[in-house]
Amino acid sequence: SPPAERYEYQAEVSRLMDLIVNSLYSNKEVFLRELISNASDALDKLRFLSVTEPELMKETLDFDIRIQTDKDNGIITITDSGIGMTRQELVDCLGTIAQSGTAKFLKALKDSKDAGGDNNLIGQFGVGFYSAFLVADRVVVSTKSPKSDKQYVWDGEANDSSYTISEETDPEKLIPRGTRLTLHLKRDAKDFAHPERIQKLVKNYSQFVSFPIYTWQEKGYTKEVEVDEDPAEAKTDNQDDKTEKKRKTKTVVERYWDWELTNETQPIWLRNPKEVTKEDYNEFYKNTFNEYLEPLASSHFTTEGEVEFRSVLYVPAVAPSGKDDIINPKTKNIRLHVKRVFISDDFDGELFPRYLSFVKGVVDSNDLPLNVSREILQESRIVRIMRKRLVRKAFDMILGISMSDNRGDYEAFYDNFGKHLKLGCIEDRENHKRIAPLLRFLSSQSEEELISLDEYVENMKPDQKDIYYIASDSVTSAKNTPFLERLAEKDLEVLFLVDPIDEVAIQSLKSYKEKNFVDISKEDLDIGEKNEEKDKEIKQEFSQTCDWIKKRLGGKVANVQISNRLSSSPCVLVSGKFGWSANMERLMKAQTM
Ligand code: ADP
Ligand code: MG
Repeated sequence: SPPAERYEYQAEVSRLMDLIVNSLYSNKEVFLRELISNASDALDKLRFLSVTEPELMKETLDFDIRIQTDKDNGIITITDSGIGMTRQELVDCLGTIAQSGTAKFLKALKDSKDAGGDNNLIGQFGVGFYSAFLVADRVVVSTKSPKSDKQYVWDGEANDSSYTISEETDPEKLIPRGTRLTLHLKRDAKDFAHPERIQKLVKNYSQFVSFPIYTWQEKGYTKEVEVDEDPAEAKTDNQDDKTEKKRKTKTVVERYWDWELTNETQPIWLRNPKEVTKEDYNEFYKNTFNEYLEPLASSHFTTEGEVEFRSVLYVPAVAPSGKDDIINPKTKNIRLHVKRVFISDDFDGELFPRYLSFVKGVVDSNDLPLNVSREILQESRIVRIMRKRLVRKAFDMILGISMSDNRGDYEAFYDNFGKHLKLGCIEDRENHKRIAPLLRFLSSQSEEELISLDEYVENMKPDQKDIYYIASDSVTSAKNTPFLERLAEKDLEVLFLVDPIDEVAIQSLKSYKEKNFVDISKEDLDIGEKNEEKDKEIKQEFSQTCDWIKKRLGGKVANVQISNRLSSSPCVLVSGKFGWSANMERLMKAQTM
């Protein structure tokens, strides 16, 4: 057979390997979670691809993951019957970093100040395949892809900047399909090769993997064996009967080894919500989405009727990679299953509108075809109905957070996702009624703590008809605007719209609870103190003055008018009723520059 070929790792992998190998990270057991999750991904991939390429399944094999331990030699093997890897895939997948989890880790590491390596990050992000080197000094991956007729062996050692790939030639080691990882444990990690230890770890970390995980366990059963009677005893017990030879039974334990199903394979969304704890939901979330923070909220529901599906949805604790990022609808946040089979997590607004694309979760439908394609998804009436329900549930969940006793939860939510809701005002008229109660703003009477529109309405004066706002670039400049004077004098509250998107969002809403939003910087502001007679008189008296000022200013202003909105400033510049507000003009300018 051809000799093994040697390859160098990509520089990032080398660096990562160094970090892992020399890490003092004590929670080394995370390696198992990572390797099982890869095995599960490989099974998912095969199941999905085989819907359209049935020849991939020509080997009839159960879909499962098997973990065997050899404690005398300190070896763990993890075998899956998934998609496996071709030779090229081995090079691409295990010699370079293109993968999400690991890439995320490296980025976080770069961001973290001590580039010497923050040990905690390894546990938080998971370093994928390479976490094997937390416990092993040699890792052998023997893998057979149904796309290749050969089985290949990847062999890598800790403290080595290269690895080898060769063909599997040992007939004992051939597998029909899938991947077998052999971990040769480091001296100080040999304890992991105890069957009970592995069993416990699988139970802890991988209870939500939807394929059966078997571990190799020692078992015992008791059996009765017949033994010849002790002659001495026989004499004392059976003194009267000396003719028959008495036989006696004894209980012995027979020991043997066998595969034992170690995880619960019923997917969490198929279970009865009454029997699932909050911890279960959170664990499932962390496992499924590679998250280390608990979600802010979750919701488990089944819908029946026209379209039937089950779902578990989550609101994450933080927005992905900084809240200033543009809102990206192409997240991998929703995992669609059809009849339990994982179909796709690659959506572009089909199941959630872009402004809600931060919601994570799983959806399982019995009404869609297994080979559902992007086109089908986009055109399907079923999907449209699902989307409506999902959106409604997402809003219920967010409303739940806003009503929580812990005010900090909603503050955290709004800090991360307030922008998304405002975008929703602009993009989703149909849901204005759901979005508006969730909005929060600062105001002339609450400069530090955000208030809701409901709180504003409650605080309205008995004769106040409208909701007043002023858009500005900061609280300080909003506070100091002359427009505020009369309103402040009359103790009327004014919302401060200081986020650039606020004004457009409010203008899209137009009203809340039948009260119009009114920009106090626009002309014709009516704060309910009209005295027509007096106004007319004053207007007449100063009409010449106004004309004169207008002439002097030339084309710089459209009009000069007498106003009753000021109390201490002599004059103010306002925008026309139908024109852009000063704030909007500022934004437009910023955009065209
Ligand atoms: P990630 O799982 O985030 O992609 P990993 O470092 O865990 O990153 O794995 C890297 C890649 O190696 C995977 O994306 C996959 O293509 C491949 N891989 C790892 N383990 C297996 C396996 N058991 N079967 C098939 N492919 C695997
Ligand atoms: Mg992985």
